[in-house]
Amino acid sequence: MRAALLRESGRPLEPAEVPRPEPAPGQVLLRVRACGVCRTDLHVVDGELTHPKLPLIVGHQIVGEAEDGRRLGVPWLGWTCGACRYCTSGRENLCDRARFTGYDLDGGYAEWAVADERFCFPIPEAYGDLDAAPLLCAGLIGYRALRLTGDADRLGLYGFGAAAHIVAQVALWQGRRVFAVTREGDEHAQAFARSLGAEWAGAGPPPEELDAAIIFAPAGELVPAALRAVAKGGTIVCAGIHMSDIPSFPYEILWGERVVRSVANLTRQDGEELLALAPLVPVRTTVEAFALEDANEALAKLRRGDVEGALVVVP
Ligand SMILES: [Zn+2]
Ligand SMILES: [Zn+2]
Repeated sequence: MRAALLRESGRPLEPAEVPRPEPAPGQVLLRVRACGVCRTDLHVVDGELTHPKLPLIVGHQIVGEAEDGRRLGVPWLGWTCGACRYCTSGRENLCDRARFTGYDLDGGYAEWAVADERFCFPIPEAYGDLDAAPLLCAGLIGYRALRLTGDADRLGLYGFGAAAHIVAQVALWQGRRVFAVTREGDEHAQAFARSLGAEWAGAGPPPEELDAAIIFAPAGELVPAALRAVAKGGTIVCAGIHMSDIPSFPYEILWGERVVRSVANLTRQDGEELLALAPLVPVRTTVEAFALEDANEALAKLRRGDVEGALVVVP
């Protein structure tokens, strides 16, 4: 089968012919219909996540078709041990021995993929293959991050990419108010955020206090900026798997029971909840498709940040 292969961190993906994977017991063989492109793919390819299986097929937002015709989604969480203290306390996202799709396990930048069926999700009927793909990580991690903000009314989204464009829709549907903070001069992203219902979008501090913020951009300097923007008791959720160092900041901006926390991976329950919720909102994803051969181009576009919504690779 054709695949885009990472042979070494820091190098572009290489188009390659590799053997079609054979499903082990408990695994399902999927013909890949679409695979979302995630910032984590960039962190893997660029070597910021330092222990990928090599060679590796990246991609962890797989919409695939099983041999019996079912459409299944394969997320980042590809396998957990089921026995560690995290797995046995409802926190499988933190499993010590977890294996991740497109990192420890081959992912979806290929014509075929195999996945542990226990970690796959049925794709809701309402979604096409391409539209569904970004729900599987951008949507899931975003949803988990949103949940961790509690019942915050005024929500700041820092970095308006694939995850924020989904979270904004869910948050508005829940009756929250959304403020989008983008990079300086990114009027395109600001207009996109407003078109989805954000009541304010800009590069500086939001016009009023926030009750919570989710930071999707991998830029550590946004943590003190967000702390200065949230009201007492406000929570900052860092939603990326990698972030540049957080600069030191005065204790007074954390004082007042403000909280800084990360969100890591996902549980299967997150997936079941979001995929049940998405058609009700209804969440509409904005996607741009790339052929498998053009996977590097998709990654380059994400790196530049000139993306409206989400990118999807289609083998
Ligand atoms: Zn475990
Ligand atoms: Zn991801």
